[in-house]
Amino acid sequence: MRFALVNHERADPQPQLHGECPHCGEEVISKCGRVKVWHWAHKSREVCDPWWENETEWHRAWKDKFPKEWQEIAAVDSKTGETHIADVKTSHGLVVEFQHSPMPLEEMTARERFYGNMIWIVDGKRGELDSSYFLLGLDRTPIQTNPLAFAFSWHGKSRIMHNWSDAKAHVFIDFGNSMTKGPPVVWRLVDFDVKQKRGVVGPYPKHLLIEAISRGKEIGVPYLPTPEGSETS
Ligand SMILES: [Zn+2]
Repeated sequence: MRFALVNHERADPQPQLHGECPHCGEEVISKCGRVKVWHWAHKSREVCDPWWENETEWHRAWKDKFPKEWQEIAAVDSKTGETHIADVKTSHGLVVEFQHSPMPLEEMTARERFYGNMIWIVDGKRGELDSSYFLLGLDRTPIQTNPLAFAFSWHGKSRIMHNWSDAKAHVFIDFGNSMTKGPPVVWRLVDFDVKQKRGVVGPYPKHLLIEAISRGKEIGVPYLPTPEGSETS
């Protein structure tokens, strides 16, 4: 976790600091090493949320696109009292989960059901060659322009497309910033046929996705802005 309560205030980890988990109230200690990103760890057990994933720089960079007040927000099911920690929950009620590792389908389904109004942003750089395979299989001509969408064939060894094709919520795959000309994009996985290994993706400029999330706008698949700066929807 990035935040713990220190003297009743949300605080980032600093060396030699103790705090309290804002969600379960247990003692947490700061872990400020050289390899993993600085974080808080529960003293007596793993994380209080079984859905929690150890954070990478990639997680932190994404979360920091949004206000601190929206990061690591406890979401409670009012009927059952079940609590989980959303990576980001906006003031408009949208939950954004940043996912580095694959998870079992049951967990994906459970998380989507629990959060309801949510999207996934997936780390496409986890598999070393996945971004190269993706570019290799991406058709050069769009199958439609409004919204912009491209067909692709998946040649990668990993199951990233397969796994995420089961999601009900929108999935945006982040293959990194150096993929395409123009503004960095994430790729919304619109469709994927696991037998044919063919699918459809729509590029979404990162800054527009962040803006749409921040302002509570509807998130679809927009036009890519052309270099001339024409309109996006
Ligand atoms: Zn806890």
